[in-house]
Amino acid sequence: MADILYVYQKNVYVNLTNRCPARCVFCVRNKKDGVGGSHLVLEEEPTADELRAAIDAFSFDGYEELVFCGYGEPTCAVDNLVETARYFKERHTQKIRVDTNGLGCLYNHRDILPEMAEVVDRFSVSLNAPDRKRYDELVRPPYENAFEEVLRFGTAARELGKDVVFSVVSILSEEEIDRCRSLAADYGIPLKVRSYIQEEDEQ
Ligand code: SF4
Repeated sequence: MADILYVYQKNVYVNLTNRCPARCVFCVRNKKDGVGGSHLVLEEEPTADELRAAIDAFSFDGYEELVFCGYGEPTCAVDNLVETARYFKERHTQKIRVDTNGLGCLYNHRDILPEMAEVVDRFSVSLNAPDRKRYDELVRPPYENAFEEVLRFGTAARELGKDVVFSVVSILSEEEIDRCRSLAADYGIPLKVRSYIQEEDEQ
């Protein structure tokens, strides 16, 4: 059975869903069934009851953040995400982060940010590329305006008062990473570069 909660370094991660509308060429799911000794391929998505039970059974002492990330795009299960984050927030003091591809509003056909902003403290949004052409090559999204939506999503989250970082994976060239950094700075958002090797160990 797949793990609902798993630990990586100082954080606890929630494995909400394996769904994702994108098909990133670098996605760790193309290579293995889990990270850090956890098995993350879900036979069925956990229900809200199962998520609450997993939180009740876990000791969060000493951990820094609860991160919705898992082995898919967490906003594909946004209702369970918000409900679980609210349940956690009522009981624990750790910050809540969502690692997202930034395409959740397109996937859900509505603006999901206001409901997430009620319970989420931080967003790490995958920028992935310095321009639309490169983004489409790497992420292979099913939406025409995906790259622009990622920029909009990050900006909108920040305007709601959230900590936001854009992220890229180090399969980009140094020149491309510099362009991503410059683009992120244009939006007033810092850029985090995740090593491709690290990406294999940290979803
Ligand atoms: S957005 Fe994340 S989960 Fe989805 S394909 Fe890309 S790396 Fe994988």
